[in-house]
Amino acid sequence: MSLILELRDTFMELHEHKETLFWAQAMDLTGYVTGSLEKADIEMKRFTSDPSWLSKVREEEARSGLTSEEKLILDGWRRFFDANAIESERARKMQEEMVEMEGELARKKMDAKLGYTDPNTGKHLQTSPVKLRLMLMTNDDEAMRKAAWEGLHDIEKWLLNDDMLDIFAKRNEIGAALGYDDFYSWRVQINEGISKRVVFDKLDDLERNTRDACKRLVDSVKKEHGEDGAQPWNFDYLTQGDLTKQRAPYLSFDTAVERWGRSFAALGISMNNAKLQLDLVDRVGKYENGFMHLPHPSFIDGGEHRTGVINFTANAVPGQPGSGQRALETLFHEGGHAAHFANVMMPAPCFGQEFAPTSTALEETQSMFMDNFITDPDWLQRYALDKDGKPMPSELIHATVEESVRTLAHGMRGWLCVPYFEKTIYEMSDLERTPDAVMDAARKIENRMAFQPALARPTLSVPHLQDNESSAYYHAYILAQMAVFQFRDFFRKRDGHLLDNANIGRDLAKVIWSRGNEKNFMQFIEALTGEEFSAKATVDLVNKDLATVHREVDDALANEKKLPRFDGPIDLKHDITMIHGDKSISRSQNASDFPAMAEAYGAWIREMEKDADK
Ligand SMILES: [Zn+2]
Repeated sequence: MSLILELRDTFMELHEHKETLFWAQAMDLTGYVTGSLEKADIEMKRFTSDPSWLSKVREEEARSGLTSEEKLILDGWRRFFDANAIESERARKMQEEMVEMEGELARKKMDAKLGYTDPNTGKHLQTSPVKLRLMLMTNDDEAMRKAAWEGLHDIEKWLLNDDMLDIFAKRNEIGAALGYDDFYSWRVQINEGISKRVVFDKLDDLERNTRDACKRLVDSVKKEHGEDGAQPWNFDYLTQGDLTKQRAPYLSFDTAVERWGRSFAALGISMNNAKLQLDLVDRVGKYENGFMHLPHPSFIDGGEHRTGVINFTANAVPGQPGSGQRALETLFHEGGHAAHFANVMMPAPCFGQEFAPTSTALEETQSMFMDNFITDPDWLQRYALDKDGKPMPSELIHATVEESVRTLAHGMRGWLCVPYFEKTIYEMSDLERTPDAVMDAARKIENRMAFQPALARPTLSVPHLQDNESSAYYHAYILAQMAVFQFRDFFRKRDGHLLDNANIGRDLAKVIWSRGNEKNFMQFIEALTGEEFSAKATVDLVNKDLATVHREVDDALANEKKLPRFDGPIDLKHDITMIHGDKSISRSQNASDFPAMAEAYGAWIREMEKDADK
């Protein structure tokens, strides 16, 4: 059928072109021509937002004599254009206005010289929010930490004095024009395929049942450090221990690729012949956040598998304490995304691409499930070895697990502030939504969630809110974390353990990964676990008493010694190249050369570490 072929070819050409340029720009490659990404982006958007495709697909769907595969493909494309195209001319125009307003705001923000006022000199210094956050977490001088927090709070004030309120109003106008209560209702329905009410039912359940655990932590900090311990510039500084530094010798950067490959192979994970490029180390000019993108989605094309082409990146700094852990986290997290998309085996590329209607919560569940491994006691005992091959001491493993359980409720409730805040402001009328009311809403929600006067990262300063593409989707991370705990409970109950459990890769590929975006988030979670998606596993974990936590760590460590080790070849059905910008460091195309690739990369990292020491 010609429409199906036309969609396939048009999409693949535009998508691959745009993603290749996206990577070149983000990695600051030498061949990149300035401005070419923007052009490719506009061409792609013109295609995805063109409502005429929707009518063509509907027309084709109404035809008689379609095979079941053709029906499936057309359904996939209809959902794709439903999520991306806006049929109403009026709403399309409003969207253009909104994008313009956001662009204008971003330009003004660049010129606003935001930063902090040095308490010692009284001088205002221009600083990025990332640096302010770092100061807030690590500076030993309370006055400096407070100045950093006030710098972040200044961003909120600046946004409210400027055009942010008009942007909120414009977004709501679009939601209303498309027949929804507000912007949030529209976005969540499009991105997740579920209603705002269903999402917040789940979040409310989590909120109710993590309240006491969070309050216990805050009370204990206040008891130890006085009322001021709960101030946003003190709390995170006081509660995050220096365990990262203690763990560093056992989680070295130069061994990270080998440990990741071995773990994934032991988990039965296959990359399904995908081609992967990994660029893990930071450098000037490189994009500042880790991500995975796929220039070529995996799909079945008339019976033939067209394999995925996948890139992922991180900003690890060799020689910096914690960089090995950061590299491992990235390999597991982005590697989880890669395994997910490499295994899509649906009959058209619309099912295996990473944007809507593919659920963000579902995507993050796959990656966060993987990166949870590297803090598991049995994983740490087996894989976290120092350079003499000695495992991480059990006291440090106990401390690591205790810290993560003790701070879990507070951490997740900090995330909850964002969706609750966004829900509140989009539910306000334009008249109600004054600067004072919005600021007041932020502090009230933070106080209700975290039992602190404000959060270390003031909610309105969260960058997601300023861009409509990342607005009204923060709930996805929370839903994903809840699903991760549900998955972990499921595998543990069924198979007794998670470590090196080869059923995991097999089951995820079969039940979830191969099906692309055929189902929504909640349907997939239920398909794997056999139970409705819920907060139960998270709530159980958050409220576990510490004696039980430590007993379970002891059990896991004893059990690790009995579990068979995976000594087979690292066969991920892969073609992996380790790169650094334009430079290729090492490559593996099969199991036999994986160790050599990992070792060559490790040697390159050790050289960088030596340079950092100088
Ligand atoms: Zn992710």
